Amino acid sequence: MTMADDVVANLRGFSKAMYSTWFHYKPARLLIDAGEGVSPSMENFIFGLESILISHGHYDHISGIGGIVHSRAAARGDKEKPLRIHYPAGDRMIELLREYCGKMAGNIQYELEWEPVWAGDEFAIGLDEDRALVRAFPVVHSPRTVNLGYQLFERRTRLKPELVGLSQDQIEDRAREQGRDSVVDEYEQIVLAYCGDSAPVDPDLVRGAEVLIHEATFIKESDRENDTHSSVAEALEVARRADVNRLVLAHISTRYPKHQIEGMIRDIATGSGFDRPLTMVMGRRFTDILGPGGEPAPPRRRGTRR
Ligand SMILES: [Zn+2]
Ligand SMILES: [Zn+2]
Repeated sequence: MTMADDVVANLRGFSKAMYSTWFHYKPARLLIDAGEGVSPSMENFIFGLESILISHGHYDHISGIGGIVHSRAAARGDKEKPLRIHYPAGDRMIELLREYCGKMAGNIQYELEWEPVWAGDEFAIGLDEDRALVRAFPVVHSPRTVNLGYQLFERRTRLKPELVGLSQDQIEDRAREQGRDSVVDEYEQIVLAYCGDSAPVDPDLVRGAEVLIHEATFIKESDRENDTHSSVAEALEVARRADVNRLVLAHISTRYPKHQIEGMIRDIATGSGFDRPLTMVMGRRFTDILGPGGEPAPPRRRGTRR
């Protein structure tokens, strides 16, 4: 299993354009967006949750927050664990929701923190020592909301290319004599990138990501009304140019006949030049469209809902 496969295997959620979108990434105890229905779907996972990242203040991405805040206070579980909600600074609807939650939250025993985020901000999420790192980036969507995408990334080291081929002893000797920096380079690896609702993002913002979740509201290019969303072909093009290892398409419109969506997306994907695994999310169902080498994945089996 590749790292990208592992990330997708640990991802569950729901996405339907206009109705609701949310993703739960369990290894980081993180919820990305929080549309309607998230709280009953999370059930006891809700007590493990430490952070929420909100992309923008549209109803379908924030309407589940009240339910989460409430059920963590009222259901049976850890009532003291803090919860931090990171949101685009200055988004008016989210600030109203924050006010509402503050008034509703008279009997909340846990610490509920709202952290405004600006594009370019870098911060750690979660309560543990080895906290995940997040960077916010700007995306283009509605002029009435403040819109952010997020990268979950890690700082890693790798052997300097000119030292490949040396023995372990030689490398250790050099590190001892000249310091660790003389043998390794530091680099950043994006583990998971999420673009919220957006026109196609700049590939440089998600370059080399293990997994990219990009919206694909329109399957047919001719359905585009404005530049506030993306099409399937555009999302594939971003993923190809950004050299991401695996693409997840979300926020797909329900205007297309349900039984045709998978086939339509597979047809577009196979001719797109993106030759890595591709998964689409429709409602709670994650369906593999392209396999490891970009070949069409076998038609879906029953029981793939998560
Ligand atoms: Zn939306
Ligand atoms: Zn939106």
